[in-house]
Order: sequence, then structure tokens, then C-alpha cells
Amino acid sequence: MASTALFLNVYLVLVALMVGSFINLAADRVPRRESVITPPSHCRACGRRLNAIDLIPVAGYLLRRGRCATCGVRIGSAAPAVEAVSGACMVVTLIWLGPWPGAAVGLALIGLWGLGVTGLALRLQRAR
Ligand SMILES: [Zn+2]
Repeated sequence: MASTALFLNVYLVLVALMVGSFINLAADRVPRRESVITPPSHCRACGRRLNAIDLIPVAGYLLRRGRCATCGVRIGSAAPAVEAVSGACMVVTLIWLGPWPGAAVGLALIGLWGLGVTGLALRLQRAR
């Protein structure tokens, strides 16, 4: 059942990338005391609501060449980097430990990564 294992691994890495995307949102909104649930993801400069292409982790950034598709404001390379590190955490633990406990260890690492990134964002906000 090699294809089942491959599907599972790809799914787990996609979940990791989406968690990375949420880490970006949290690191952006938590220091501003905004909700992480509403409003939906949007461009800070022009307010355009992000669509499916914008929201693809890492690839969305590359497809948009690092800019908002509407107003052209730079998104910043931190966002895809945070997503890529999240995905890499899962890839490494899956290769190292297999689907179990690799998936659990990967999610735990990504959780710590998310706390670190959000904590750093909070500190930077206070330092301003
Ligand atoms: Zn914009």
C-alpha cells in the first residue's frame, strides 16, 4: 500500500503548510489584539480579500511574485519562510519517524515554532 502511505504523507505536509499559514496570521494579528478568526485574510494595504491562489502556502507567494495582486504592496519574505519551515518540520519528522509518531512530533514542533514566531512578533511590537 505504498500509494496510501504517499497520500498520507502528502496530506500531513499540506496540513503542516496550512498550520504555517495560520502562524503567519496569528503573528500578524495577535500583537495588534485582533481576532484570528474574523475578518477573513485580506491585504493590509488595500483591504482586498485574499482568494484561493493567495492562500496557497509558499506557492501563492511565488505565483504573486511576493506582492498583492491588486495594489502591488510587498508581502514580505517572512510569510513564505514561516510556511516553509512548518512544512519542513513535518517532512523531516515523517522521514525520521514515519507517519507515527512522525506526524505527532511534527505537529508538536510546528506548535512550538508557531509560539516562537508569534512570541517574537509580540516582542517586536512592544519594542516599537
Ligand atoms: Zn493589496
